[in-house]
Amino acid sequence: MNNDFIVIGNPIEHSLSPRIHQLFAEQCGISLRYEKKLSDHEHFESDLRLFLNSGGRGLNVTVPFKVMAYQFADDHTERAEIAGACNTLMRRENGEILGDNTDGIGLVRDLQQRLEFQLKGARVLILGAGGAVRGILGPLFDSKINYCTIATREPQKAQGLKDLFPVLNLVEYRQIPEESFDLIINATSAGLSNELPPLPPRCIQEQTVIYDLTYGPKAEPFLIWCREQGAKYCYDGIGMLVEQAAASFLLWHGVLPKTAEVIETLLKEITCTNTSPAFKK
Ligand code: NDP
Repeated sequence: MNNDFIVIGNPIEHSLSPRIHQLFAEQCGISLRYEKKLSDHEHFESDLRLFLNSGGRGLNVTVPFKVMAYQFADDHTERAEIAGACNTLMRRENGEILGDNTDGIGLVRDLQQRLEFQLKGARVLILGAGGAVRGILGPLFDSKINYCTIATREPQKAQGLKDLFPVLNLVEYRQIPEESFDLIINATSAGLSNELPPLPPRCIQEQTVIYDLTYGPKAEPFLIWCREQGAKYCYDGIGMLVEQAAASFLLWHGVLPKTAEVIETLLKEITCTNTSPAFKK
């Protein structure tokens, strides 16, 4: 086995994962190669086999292949099992492929450690019910949130999530209950196509923390709109991106890199709107 890694997805050009893993590697004194790989549904499995047969050690998997990566893996971590989707694959010494999902732990660490948001007891609203949500629900409930409402355009499509987490409240956007939320997570991909999720402005209050899983310029329109509705604490998903990468790095290399300085570096390198005052609760 060599020390080669890739991130595979479609689109993939925008991915910051190679940069993040290079920064981690420098920090930890590890020599590795990490590249981007564009794939499609037809070639995903053969692309994985080609990479692994050439000695590749591990992969990150992004939109839209996380469920296919889960099906490809021979074995799964518990959190990947719950999510039914993998963002991380690792080849074991015996050749078996282990599938993991580090998205949820990435989000929880960023919220709790960098932003000092207390998840315990929080009233949470999630927008969208795609692949990322499957990964974040387990860790959010493990963090003892009070309750979670998920708003989607077509709740019947998200029924599988309700089967996994029966306490979820699944609604259409216009049926979002008239109550206060401590945390609103935008887990839609609306920003990627320059759209806004149809969130009723009444859901946003000054103290509501807004967290958009999308990061960089594509997250800006939603975060700006939330500020216009009065939200004081609005963040994009750059911290989650770095934290989920750190958890993958730990799985592959056995060492957990420091994330704060890497987030700082990336914030300087990309244009984004993380200008909210530091959140303290
Ligand atoms: P999916 O494609 O699996 O799901 C996208 C979801 O967004 C679906 O529920 C879809 O609803 C909804 N959606 C898309 N457009 C709109 C719209 N205009 N209005 C309302 N809802 C909409 O994507 P993922 O779950 O994998 O990813 C979601 C976002 O999170 C992406 O931007 C991704 O880049 C980001 N992400 C960030 C991570 C990080 O580390 N920061 C990690 C993982 C994801 P419908 O089914 O009705 O179409």
